[in-house]
Amino acid sequence: MLGAAGCRTADAPHPHPHPTPGGATFIPMEEAPVYHVLDGYDPRWRAHVEDGVELARAFWGSYGPVHVWVAGREEHAEPSDDAKEAFLTEYCRLSTSVTDRLHAECHCHASERFLDVVERGDAEAYLSWAEELEQPTAELVFLNVHRWFFEEDPVPDPVLRGVHEYTHVFQKAFAHMPIWLMEGCAVFAEAWIPWTAQRCDEAFVTARMDRSMREARRATKAGLTIADMEGLDSAPLEAHRFYRELAYDAGAWGTVLLVHLSPSKSVSALRDEFFPMVDELGWERALCRYLGIENKYWFYEAFDAFMEGTAEQQHHALRELRP
Ligand SMILES: [Zn+2]
Repeated sequence: MLGAAGCRTADAPHPHPHPTPGGATFIPMEEAPVYHVLDGYDPRWRAHVEDGVELARAFWGSYGPVHVWVAGREEHAEPSDDAKEAFLTEYCRLSTSVTDRLHAECHCHASERFLDVVERGDAEAYLSWAEELEQPTAELVFLNVHRWFFEEDPVPDPVLRGVHEYTHVFQKAFAHMPIWLMEGCAVFAEAWIPWTAQRCDEAFVTARMDRSMREARRATKAGLTIADMEGLDSAPLEAHRFYRELAYDAGAWGTVLLVHLSPSKSVSALRDEFFPMVDELGWERALCRYLGIENKYWFYEAFDAFMEGTAEQQHHALRELRP
């Protein structure tokens, strides 16, 4: 038994499921992400994750440094203790070579963070990094992603998780952005990038965005909007209850509207012009300059009106987006 209870102390690198405020974390680099897979976990799951990461890297550009950690346990294939030990040792060799954390302490934390989750059977995907390092490494973690696989999906969900998490690596190469834009853009990318790569038809994009619209409506019905999800600290208490609907689902449509209101209506221009502008001006002024508007409240009002529009109007905006 490699898992160990009660080894939490203060200085372990911790997951950042929600991107935190701050400047750029990652940098442009040609090197491809490095993969680490728990031996015994079917290689097809790593292949799906890598497929998604590479789709996103081809679209957003190559940023890093990135290490990808893939582990899981399917019912018929229990990984051996040796395999688990090798996975932890590899993780701690890499993370303790750049920090002064003790190997034993790392082992304990990594065991909780990776193997306990694998054992429990929970599926997780997230980006984390050690903030205190001069050049943090992006750790893309994918655990038990087979649980998200359904034969009938046109693009397997583990591929989409790869697209989503790598999108955060790209975003974190720029200055701070609001949560709705971080998560919303990543959710939008899950539909947009496979479509531009000709992995699916337009119906796939529409179906995913429709689902996000239904979810987002749960929050708008409660009187909440993306303006309530700029940051966790500033979000009103009731917005926390709708975190997923506001950040991910309403945020995905906020991203659509941001592109749709821009002069080019181009998603590539969002990548090539808007994101660098965020570095230069900060996200609020970048939003205003990019859309030629007075202030962010103008955008938020336009968003609320857009959400109250018909499905036909919303689909029309989606169809008008250009690569
Ligand atoms: Zn995310």
